[in-house]
Amino acid sequence: MPLPLPDFCSQCESTWACRLKIHQNVSLADKNTLRLEARAEWYCEVSSLDELLEAAAFALAHKLNVISLGEGSNIVLADNLPGLVIKNRIQGVTYNAEVVHTAGGENWHQLVRSTVSSGLFGLENLALIPGTVGAAPVQNIGAYGVEICDRFLSLRALHLPTLEHRSFGKKECDFAYRDSLFKRSDEWMITEVSLALSKTSEYVTTYPGIVSYIEEHGLGTTGESIFEAVSHIRAQKLPNPLVIPNVGSFFKNPVVNADQAESIATEFPDVVQYDVIAGKKLSAAWLIDQLGLKDYGVGQFAVSDKHALVIINKGNGKQQELFELVDVINRKVKDTFGIELEIEPRLYPKGFVMSC
Ligand SMILES: Cc1cc2nc3c(=O)[nH]c(=O)nc-3n(C[C@H](O)[C@H](O)[C@H](O)COP(=O)(O)OP(=O)(O)OC[C@H]3O[C@@H](n4cnc5c(N)ncnc54)[C@H](O)[C@@H]3O)c2cc1C
Repeated sequence: MPLPLPDFCSQCESTWACRLKIHQNVSLADKNTLRLEARAEWYCEVSSLDELLEAAAFALAHKLNVISLGEGSNIVLADNLPGLVIKNRIQGVTYNAEVVHTAGGENWHQLVRSTVSSGLFGLENLALIPGTVGAAPVQNIGAYGVEICDRFLSLRALHLPTLEHRSFGKKECDFAYRDSLFKRSDEWMITEVSLALSKTSEYVTTYPGIVSYIEEHGLGTTGESIFEAVSHIRAQKLPNPLVIPNVGSFFKNPVVNADQAESIATEFPDVVQYDVIAGKKLSAAWLIDQLGLKDYGVGQFAVSDKHALVIINKGNGKQQELFELVDVINRKVKDTFGIELEIEPRLYPKGFVMSC
């Protein structure tokens, strides 16, 4: 039996005392970078592990489903969220030789900047990725030839249904391309991430844009110059979500088997594809661009004219407009290339199916 709800709060009129500041019926429009309007049935922000434990205990006592929230840069809010949304604001960074331990609520880009300024390398290719450190392992963030799993040592996470707080090694996280155990389950809130860096890193400069930026600016290949190159390239290519609402790549790059890749390449010789263990990974941006969909829009939502993989909200876009745009892209890609695109951000509420 759920516990009875406590008395009304005088400050927010919720039915829960405000010591923990758990509020009812809170708008999430300014808490997701696509700026979709949706409301959380219950909402709170936590700045320490103790506060997180209290909030999770509240959810348990009242049989509320919990959704962990960082900076909302990889979620699509399709509708109002039942249950309790807990925003992780737990701060703290400590260095131990070449290992950095970081609390889940820290900003990822600030962490990368601080490691590079401290002379520790390994994260420079992941500069300017929005979001929190706690969310970074969830989809195994990656860019410019590096994924967080390449630098990963361990993390600590709270099991929301039992309040067990435990460590995970790399293997247990089951990292894959834009995926991990934590993307498949909402039961864990990541509270701390430990990464192994290096003072003498082997830099990853496989992307030609990084090399040409370094050459053009007369820089040597260092962690600082890669950080600068990546930050510059990303700022040119991707719309800043603080100015133009978006969630970065809206679709994953599809992986197809060798036969399918060959038949696409026969018909479209310019197709951008890379070898992966399961076959070939195709550039979803290339597929969408090829269909002339850059800048194509439905209502307030449109494919960015800067990057075909990014969907932007030009104003007060509504969910239905977004779904219709996604449907058009999906149908055209399927009809032309025979490929089903999969969306990269997490769709909420859980179990929601987009339909037009
Ligand atoms: C302009 C732009 C560029 C981007 N570029 C890249 C890129 O190059 N590579 C890349 O991989 N991603 C990229 N992204 C996606 C996004 O930045 C990352 O996925 C980021 O890690 C999301 O962090 P967040 O704090 O905003 O997470 P949120 O959007 O708040 O949450 C995302 C998911 O993680 C869960 N979550 C959040 N915090 C925790 C936690 N502490 N514990 C457990 N689960 C949690 C949420 O429940 C949700 O399922 C980009 C996004 C934008 C807007």
